[in-house]
Amino acid sequence: MKIAIDIDSTLHDYWPSFAAAAKRRFGVTLAYEHQVTWNVSRLKPEQVKACVAETHCDEAVLKAEPYPGAVDVVRRWHEQGHWIHITSHRAVEAHGATAQWLERIGLPYDDLHCSYDKIARATELGIDLLVDDSPVNLQSAIDHGMTAATIVHPWNRELIEEEDVIAADDWPELERNLRGFLSS
Ligand SMILES: [Mg+2]
Repeated sequence: MKIAIDIDSTLHDYWPSFAAAAKRRFGVTLAYEHQVTWNVSRLKPEQVKACVAETHCDEAVLKAEPYPGAVDVVRRWHEQGHWIHITSHRAVEAHGATAQWLERIGLPYDDLHCSYDKIARATELGIDLLVDDSPVNLQSAIDHGMTAATIVHPWNRELIEEEDVIAADDWPELERNLRGFLSS
């Protein structure tokens, strides 16, 4: 199978660094549990952009710690012969630091893509499964015939209830929930 895996809020806990940037720059408190939509309505679009840029600088990218079990699960998928495409909604300039980060955490992959056209690239590559927390990407993956899976977050709970998304609270559970699909 060809598996595409997102980074932020999928491989590591991104929200705390984004919320910290919002607090420091704009004095806005963003509570994780209250973030039940994909849009961050308490920030203006340019403020969101500034916070994303700050959290995607090389230093921030490199210091992220993966979720427990994430690296081991992806390594097992890779060893089982699945093709691993790491895909992040990041500027092309973030590619170097992102590759360095993947090496630091020891995550095996076949291809890395940093861009704002995630689903288009996944479609070109013939991806079978997208693991991503964004309800927009999950819905688009389903619409393009892919199987969608995610770590559960407040912003994707509604989609999980409505659509056929394979969801789990953590990576060990995600591995169990995807076992059937990946061996089919
Ligand atoms: Mg993400």
